[in-house]
Amino acid sequence: MTMFIDSHCHLADPAFDPDREAVIERALAAGARAIVCIGESLSAAARAADIAAARPGFIFSTAGVHPHDAAEFDPARDPDAIREFVTRGAVAIGECGLDSHYDHSPRDYQRRAFAAQLALALELDRPVVVHTREAEDDTRAMVVEAGSAGVRGVLHCYTGSHALAEAALAVGWYVSFSGIVTFKKWSEDALIRLIPSDRILVESDSPYLAPVPHRGKRNEPAWVSRTAARVAEVRGADPSEFAAQAAANTVRLFSLSLAI
Ligand SMILES: [Zn+2]
Ligand SMILES: [Zn+2]
Repeated sequence: MTMFIDSHCHLADPAFDPDREAVIERALAAGARAIVCIGESLSAAARAADIAAARPGFIFSTAGVHPHDAAEFDPARDPDAIREFVTRGAVAIGECGLDSHYDHSPRDYQRRAFAAQLALALELDRPVVVHTREAEDDTRAMVVEAGSAGVRGVLHCYTGSHALAEAALAVGWYVSFSGIVTFKKWSEDALIRLIPSDRILVESDSPYLAPVPHRGKRNEPAWVSRTAARVAEVRGADPSEFAAQAAANTVRLFSLSLAI
């Protein structure tokens, strides 16, 4: 069995309320060594912290504010809340970032919330999980500035340009691929091959983006093995060796202490 780590999963999402324990058991049975449960809002971070606390050494939580919700980010109060989550064991800040595709929050609010969370990552010496979509110039500027100051992070569910990936890699960052790479419309195999073996991660981003052949269904961490297999194939790598390498990269980025 191929072991893997799901480096980005919204396991606290209400979509998993009916059967979260079964989802976790299926991930274990499929070979998952760890799951990083994203807290994309302060309320999700609280749920993620509880889910992680019930499975120490297997599920790890993060805490941050998604760019979609950046308009509600309170710079006077939210950084303290995120500090508290990190004190309680959150392994990373985020997900945070910039999204000009949906523009659910005004862009200046998005930049303000992202900058505050990059500053927290530096202050707390934690990696940052970054969501970026159609906001390449601002993302590049902010990631390069933070990375040059010593912040490490990952561009998650990455579908952007080679140039942005290269800029992030140059400051020591990682790049993560989701089930999108299994879709018929995916045409960026060169991007998959661009990422060095010691900087590449895989993720479900579940409950969204289920890989083929599950496309359209609620996604779950067990299916990351499909995405890992597709990435390995594109890179001409052995599937088990690739999944183990991506897992090792995830452990290194997030400083995970695995139980198994
Ligand atoms: Zn995202
Ligand atoms: Zn996400």
